[in-house]
Amino acid sequence: MSLKPIIGGNWKMNKTMQESKVFIDELLKNTKNLQEKIDIVIIPSYTSINVASTLLKGKKIYVGAQNMYFEEKGAFTGEISASMLIDAGATFVVLGHSERRKIFNESDDLISKKVKTAHEKGLKPIVCIGETREERENGQMEDVLKTQIEGSLKELTEEQMLGTVIAYEPVWAIGTGINATPEQAQEAHLYVRQVLASIYGESVSQSVRIQYGGSIKPENAKELFAQPDINGGLVGGASLDPKSFLEIIKAAIP
Ligand code: PEP
Repeated sequence: MSLKPIIGGNWKMNKTMQESKVFIDELLKNTKNLQEKIDIVIIPSYTSINVASTLLKGKKIYVGAQNMYFEEKGAFTGEISASMLIDAGATFVVLGHSERRKIFNESDDLISKKVKTAHEKGLKPIVCIGETREERENGQMEDVLKTQIEGSLKELTEEQMLGTVIAYEPVWAIGTGINATPEQAQEAHLYVRQVLASIYGESVSQSVRIQYGGSIKPENAKELFAQPDINGGLVGGASLDPKSFLEIIKAAIP
């Protein structure tokens, strides 16, 4: 499959504005020749979005947010809207990360509202799905992925689906140091594509980029990204260090 790979660095609740600047300066020094070959998305805390987008102006490295709310404005203390993120310089937004689903009780229904709003306002969503260890052991992986896809990505137009990135992130692999094997990841990605085909048709399904996420490291990246249905990765821990993030970026370039 010849889809352009996409690598996201999800910094979670890490890095001050100054630390973000240091990271981006370092990344820029080393990615000059790579930016045409791969989509790189830096996903910092809200406070660093504008810092990052200012430093990356005119470069082919994008900035994403880690979450957003679906309302445009109003009495929603602590929330942030798509328009505010765009105003700060974001192009992408991660929605439905397993930490949001688990710690903040986000449902597929809520995530679906956010995904729709992101598209309407002009942000590209990276929608995370994935099963827990228990669900995998109980043989429920496929059911969980199907439910999350149908619930989080419902009622999208074909064009909106094509503009959505899916991140398959098995919950048991996130931040644990235990990545899915390339075979396990490929099996899940192929299944995601089959579910997409059943809803949006074969051609859309073959054109949607599906990232793998869960303990990606420079040592395991190449083999994971070599799988036919994996189109890059969403990287947590290893994206905090510019050197390891860069190695992972290079591993995703065919
Ligand atoms: C993530 O949080 O999206 C993630 C994949 O984290 P890690 O790479 O640390 O497992």
